[in-house]
Amino acid sequence: MAPLKLEVITPERVTLKAEAQSVIAPGVLGYLGVLPGHAPLITSLKAGVVTYRPEGGGEERLAVSGGFLEAGPEHVIILADTAEKAAEIDVERARQAKERAARRLRERPPGLDVARAEAALQRAIARLKAAGEL
Ligand code: ATP
Repeated sequence: MAPLKLEVITPERVTLKAEAQSVIAPGVLGYLGVLPGHAPLITSLKAGVVTYRPEGGGEERLAVSGGFLEAGPEHVIILADTAEKAAEIDVERARQAKERAARRLRERPPGLDVARAEAALQRAIARLKAAGEL
């Protein structure tokens, strides 16, 4: 069967256009896999790692921080709030973001926006995982 046309798009840029044998994405209800021939599907995404198998073989990863996935038999489109390919991730920045968010959640300063700190923590964890650092 023909490979999937995979596009990862954010408000800032087209992060990725590639042909993929398979795509795994962080759906809100858990990771979901898409192969060529998949039935039409729309789902929301949470922060996590998108993994795909390029035509040439191997496996590539990106971090996304939530958004939507729309798929059909021949394509997967991911509209993400933010998305970075593994090689684009600044690991030190993600480590610092993770520490900052974890500290806030531990210390619970007055007025802390807990949901915001948790979301920042999940974004940082997704980036570290995509970069192969977790
Ligand atoms: P930070 O606190 O380090 O800014 P953040 O999770 O608040 O992290 P976002 O608001 O999700 O950052 O992203 C802002 C922009 O910075 C986006 O374009 C995103 O792709 C980019 N970005 C964030 N963290 C990293 C990182 N560790 N490496 C590369 N790009 C990053």
